Amino acid sequence: MTKILAIISTHGNELLGPNLLAYMLAKRSKLLENMEFIMANPRAYTKNVRYTESDLNRSYGLGLDTYEGQRARVIEERIRLLKPELVLDFHTTTAEQPNILITADKNNEVVRRFINSSAVKDVLVVEPLNDVTTVAPNFVAYEIPNSHLNDDLYEQICTDIGRYLDGKVVDRERTFYKMTGKILPEEEKSATGLKNFVYNDGLQAIPAFLGEEAYKHDGTYAGFRLKADSQRHPGDKVRNILTQCR
Ligand SMILES: [Zn+2]
Repeated sequence: MTKILAIISTHGNELLGPNLLAYMLAKRSKLLENMEFIMANPRAYTKNVRYTESDLNRSYGLGLDTYEGQRARVIEERIRLLKPELVLDFHTTTAEQPNILITADKNNEVVRRFINSSAVKDVLVVEPLNDVTTVAPNFVAYEIPNSHLNDDLYEQICTDIGRYLDGKVVDRERTFYKMTGKILPEEEKSATGLKNFVYNDGLQAIPAFLGEEAYKHDGTYAGFRLKADSQRHPGDKVRNILTQCR
C-alpha cells in the first residue's frame, strides 16, 4: 500500500523534489516501497520556471483553463484514487532562513505524526489558498533554502520519512508560526536588523521569506509577518494551548 504521495516540482524551478527523488533512487532506498512520486508541473520543470500560465499552488479547486489548472485536476484525481495516508510536497526558497515544514492543519492526526517524526523544528501553519491543501488535508510541505540543498539534507528528509513510517518521534521543542500579514517592500527598506525567523522590534513581528526572488518579481510584497508559539512534545495540554491561539 502506498502510504505517502510525494509531489515534486509544484514550482518548476525548485529542485528539492527532483533532487530528493534522484537521491532515493541512487540509494535504492527502501522508503520507495511506501511512496509514489508525481511530477506536478513537468512543463515548468523543463522550462526551469516557477509556472507557465498560473501558479500551480494557487490553481486548485478553481476549474482554471490554464496548463496548471489542468495539472491541478490531474493531481487531485490521483489523490482521490490513491487515497494516500500522507501527501508531502517539496519546495525551495531563495530566502535565507531555517528549514521549515508547512501545513494547513496542525491538528490533523497524520500531520501531527509527521511533524513529530521530523527533525525540523519550525512549522508554519498557513490558511488554504487554492493550493494543494485544498484537495489534500493530510498534507505537509518542506520549504528549504536553496543554499541548504545537499546530500546531508536529503538524508535527513529520508530519516524523517523513515521515522514516520516506523511510528517513531523526535522529542524536541517545536515552534509553530502563523502568518499575520505581508511585509511591504518599503517596510523592508525602512526596518533595521531584519533577519528571517528572528523577532524584529521595528516590525513588531517575525519576518519570513525576505529575499525570495519570486516575491521580488511580484513586487507588491517582500515577505511575510509571523507570530509564534513554542511547544515541547505535543500532547493534550499543547493541543489546548494551540487551539486557544487559533
Ligand atoms: Zn515552491
